[in-house]
Amino acid sequence: MKPLHLALLILLLATCVSLAQTPAPDMTIVKAARLLDVKTGKYMEGQAVLVRGGLITAVGAFSELQKQAPDAAVIDLHNATLLPGLIDCHTHLLQNYDPEVGEDDNMALTVSGMSTASRALLGAKMGKEDVEAGITTVRDLGNSGVTGDVALRNAIRAGWVVGPRMAVSTRALSAAGGQFGSLQTGAQSVVAQEYVVVGNPNAARDAVQQAFYDGADLIKVIVNTGPRVIAPDTMKAIVEEAHRVHRKVAAHAIGDDATRIAAEAGVDSIEHGYVIPDDVLKIMAAKHIYLVPTDYPPETYAAMSKSSAALPPEVQKQRQERFRRIAESNHERLRRAVAAGVPIAFGSDEYYDIPGFTRGQSSLKPFESYAQSGMTPLEIIQAATIHAADLLAVNHLGSIEKDKGADLIAVEGDPLKDITVLERVRFVMLKGKVVRNDLK
Ligand SMILES: [Zn+2]
Repeated sequence: MKPLHLALLILLLATCVSLAQTPAPDMTIVKAARLLDVKTGKYMEGQAVLVRGGLITAVGAFSELQKQAPDAAVIDLHNATLLPGLIDCHTHLLQNYDPEVGEDDNMALTVSGMSTASRALLGAKMGKEDVEAGITTVRDLGNSGVTGDVALRNAIRAGWVVGPRMAVSTRALSAAGGQFGSLQTGAQSVVAQEYVVVGNPNAARDAVQQAFYDGADLIKVIVNTGPRVIAPDTMKAIVEEAHRVHRKVAAHAIGDDATRIAAEAGVDSIEHGYVIPDDVLKIMAAKHIYLVPTDYPPETYAAMSKSSAALPPEVQKQRQERFRRIAESNHERLRRAVAAGVPIAFGSDEYYDIPGFTRGQSSLKPFESYAQSGMTPLEIIQAATIHAADLLAVNHLGSIEKDKGADLIAVEGDPLKDITVLERVRFVMLKGKVVRNDLK
């Protein structure tokens, strides 16, 4: 044997021996001062979680779990509170708008100027920021080019990049023009890169089939954009076709007509619904249709808009007043929805690059708006965990229980007293792997 070959053989043997001597512990016990049972709203003191292969295999006293798994690695989070990973039911990871550019121009620039590949890479960054802030699952609702969302979801599943668990819709179904502002005839071909226009029930059925062929987990419909509203029979065809294969439908709908068309067709969630009449709320409660309130505090609306620093003081004041009125109107309709018994799931609809915030951090701002509407911290946490899991049909997520996915977050402070502690997540475990730990 040549000396070089011998050296390589020795190196190989040495590597094998060292691998055999230090097996990676495949079990982990996560220990914290207390754990929140999101179903009952009760803290469980002195409990720990045993994690194996990405699953929670036991919840119990630390000493008991150590007896069960003496070789498990231990992560001690000391005085922190453990919660299940958060679920954002309305994301757009593949776009990041510039607040200095208007909404219509942002869309035109993004769709015509960025390739789907480029948007998927942007989505990888946004997704990582979501996870780092504690959002371990998202339902990504379009504005992702042609199947860019599928590419990102699959890359995350394959472990190519770190990102949240994703359910994706591919291109949203819409009336003519999608959500674009006015485009000249020659430029309108760009619409098909972002939306599938469905003008009648047959086109709607074809579009639903195509979405599933393209890799969609669910269907997103833009029920209205200005005066362009999907017709009731077309909406019914969409829901029928998706439900026939046990997939869900998320409906962007705002105002009396659009929310009624969506609710009567039997969609699974109404997104935004900034204006919803009481009779539609009644239908939603009766049919268990979720409202996903994508509401923000006034100062976040301001941060998502063009800077007003150069404007005269009286114009700045008018703007602030406008954002305050929008927020108040949102509060009023969320109060009516909760009182009517409509189930609520958290959704951020965040797609702006807000200075000083990661995507994940700004995505949690709706919690403050929900709290201002009168939802209790527990109701908000449930909207972002078990209720969101119900809407996404991911019942293996959303709470810390045996046999559920090991998506855990930890915070300092008491989230049942102050919901804003969730804006400062200190520890994140995703599928049993630690993504972040500031509590060492
Ligand atoms: Zn949206």
